[in-house]
Amino acid sequence: MGVEDPYDGEPPYTFECTECGERVEADTRPGPCSNCGGRMRNISRSREK
Ligand SMILES: [Zn+2]
Repeated sequence: MGVEDPYDGEPPYTFECTECGERVEADTRPGPCSNCGGRMRNISRSREK
């Protein structure tokens, strides 16, 4: 198993809904959450800055 590092900085990026926590992988910003319509944030790029 092991723990996957979500901050690899390479596509596909992992996006997580700020409302319900739904996660999707995509090369580009997926738009509103398909589950609840909430805002998706990229959790794969936290290493920047
Ligand atoms: Zn959602």
